[in-house]
Amino acid sequence: MIIDTHVHIWKRTMYPDVIMDAYLEPLVLLDALYFKGGPQEGKDWLTSETDEKELVQNMEVAKIDKSVILPLDFGMVGPTKQGVEEFNDWVFEACSAYPDKFLPFIGIDPQRGETAIRLIEKYIKRFDAKGIKVYPPTGWRPDEERIKPFWKVLDDHGMVVVTHSGAVWGPLNEELSRPSYYSKVLEKHERLKLVIAHMGGKYRDEMFPLLAKHENAYTDCSALQGWLPSNPEMVVSRLKEVAERIPDRIFFGTDWPLFELAYSQPYFIDLISTQPWGSEEMKERLFSVNFQRMMMK
Ligand SMILES: [Zn+2]
Repeated sequence: MIIDTHVHIWKRTMYPDVIMDAYLEPLVLLDALYFKGGPQEGKDWLTSETDEKELVQNMEVAKIDKSVILPLDFGMVGPTKQGVEEFNDWVFEACSAYPDKFLPFIGIDPQRGETAIRLIEKYIKRFDAKGIKVYPPTGWRPDEERIKPFWKVLDDHGMVVVTHSGAVWGPLNEELSRPSYYSKVLEKHERLKLVIAHMGGKYRDEMFPLLAKHENAYTDCSALQGWLPSNPEMVVSRLKEVAERIPDRIFFGTDWPLFELAYSQPYFIDLISTQPWGSEEMKERLFSVNFQRMMMK
């Protein structure tokens, strides 16, 4: 059983241009060379947008049983043609056609205040949402006063919070993604479950102490593909480290579709399955058991 706990789908009209330009810059260059057009052109442009049908096809090839879908709310960074509510509606409705394959989370920037809380309540009520993706680099610190009501609602519902950590591009503020900023939040909210994405990225040294201190904190291995294909030793050493230090709190994730051109899902799964970084039992924990256990808590 393989659960990919870190997957994105979006329509081009749901992301601001400034984000598309920043994140897809290398592809924009390629696109200009080979495919003509660019992010502004929309549809027929590689990974300028994705949807649930494309994802299902990829999951079949990679033999992934289930994907956790994380909408990203970048609407506070620049204007979007479709708003955050339309985005989340679309994700939950698209995923409802494949209840066994998808587990959609909410994606809302807590800086939206009252609106954020209203939308969280809406998706819990209407779709039984179990989690939310947040992105501090859009301009907020998790331990800020103004974010407190947001954490309270999520705690009341025992929600999973997946938070970005590590490198960002464009107008986003990387420093705000430090895992240590969650220390106070976790102290106060014991029902909330926090997933530090990407093993904390460049803030890995803050991720381990946070998990040591808080039982309700977890991490995922998505974006490790950044080291691939050139440096598989680095990936193996990072996996060894989590197997030794936090064997029950590491989840499998691919950040689909961001690494598909460089190192696609089947290759990443094959590398994790075949390299000697942990026992077979440890690999099962990473691929599904750890996540399933957290969801049952
Ligand atoms: Zn991601």
